[in-house]
Amino acid sequence: MDMFKLIRQAKVLSPEDQGVKDILVAGEKIAAIQEPGKIKIKGLEVDLIDGSGLVAIPGFIDPHVHILGGGGEGGPATRAPEIRVEDCTLAGVTTVIGCLGTDSITRHLSSLLAKARALEIEGLSAWIYAGAYNLPAPTITGSVRSDLVLIDKVIGAGEIALSDHRSSQPTYQAFLELVAECRVGGLLGGKAGIAHLHLGDGNRGLDYLSRMVKETEIPPTQVIPTHTSRNRHLFRQALDWLNLGGFIDLTTGPEPQDEEELSVFEALKQIKAANLPLSRVTVSSDSNGSLPVFNQQGELTGLTVANQKDFLQTFQQIWRENILTRKEAIQVFSTNAAGFYKLPGKGKVQPGFEADLLLVNEAAELHYVFSRGKALMERGKLRARSTFSQ
Ligand code: ZN
Repeated sequence: MDMFKLIRQAKVLSPEDQGVKDILVAGEKIAAIQEPGKIKIKGLEVDLIDGSGLVAIPGFIDPHVHILGGGGEGGPATRAPEIRVEDCTLAGVTTVIGCLGTDSITRHLSSLLAKARALEIEGLSAWIYAGAYNLPAPTITGSVRSDLVLIDKVIGAGEIALSDHRSSQPTYQAFLELVAECRVGGLLGGKAGIAHLHLGDGNRGLDYLSRMVKETEIPPTQVIPTHTSRNRHLFRQALDWLNLGGFIDLTTGPEPQDEEELSVFEALKQIKAANLPLSRVTVSSDSNGSLPVFNQQGELTGLTVANQKDFLQTFQQIWRENILTRKEAIQVFSTNAAGFYKLPGKGKVQPGFEADLLLVNEAAELHYVFSRGKALMERGKLRARSTFSQ
């Protein structure tokens, strides 16, 4: 693998349209972006990549992934498997933020941290949330605050369950204390310190969040609710939350089965139609979490596993059907998360940024995936390999 790569004649969406350019990658970084033919390197080995006819966009950032596997709501046999670097690569995801979920008994933050480190060694960029569904939040060092200050990979707490039958039914006060831990830990640790909140179908919806903005000094940008399009009542509250200056996250997945749920497409269209800022919207896969189906009595009746294929397919459909502009689509799948979670060097195709690059065709199909300069996919062929892949 050469230290230098020159991607020639690719159309660059940084996410802004930069026209057709050559991109020089040096090690893990984008070193230069210039008019075609301008970059000349002598005396060094350079890997030349033909980008003609392709579009260079930043690698996707998936801020909600059960990298260790989630689930377990149907007993031990329903614990979902770990994610592999191959799965992420095939979806164009170069950065993940890992979380525990409902199960903080047989899953541990120390294992989550080790898994994030493993994914990094295998070629991705990975961070994690302290905590799990339940409060008080499980941590590595004793508190969310100290995890944020002392552990490089911890960038917030999540996914903390609210308004859900699987939550620990946290009081408003317990919720506030968690967000305060995130805020102060983030300040001391030089991180975003985000409280990433799982929202269930309960009627309380985002009540704790709007109350927090009214009654405390904590800014709305300290938290982000996810699964916000799971029902219409919650989505209406999510639109209000955007109006209040907050961020929201949408979860990709299979086609909605009941009419209460909105697809990501429908949610994005409504946000756009209401003239609310798409710059405060992110999308995540919930990958390797279980998708349990409960009946009216709260009994588990079915189970599948969320995956990142839906994440890529959602992007492709948005791109092909012009549901958003290309710039907006890239922002929602990468740039916004990089800014919100303060991920250094991520979310843009720009000199000095990390070389997390996707080269896609006009149908947004992946031809190349570069993650920190390493080719995880070349000419549509998967090159990424997790340690124990056959
Ligand atoms: Zn969740």
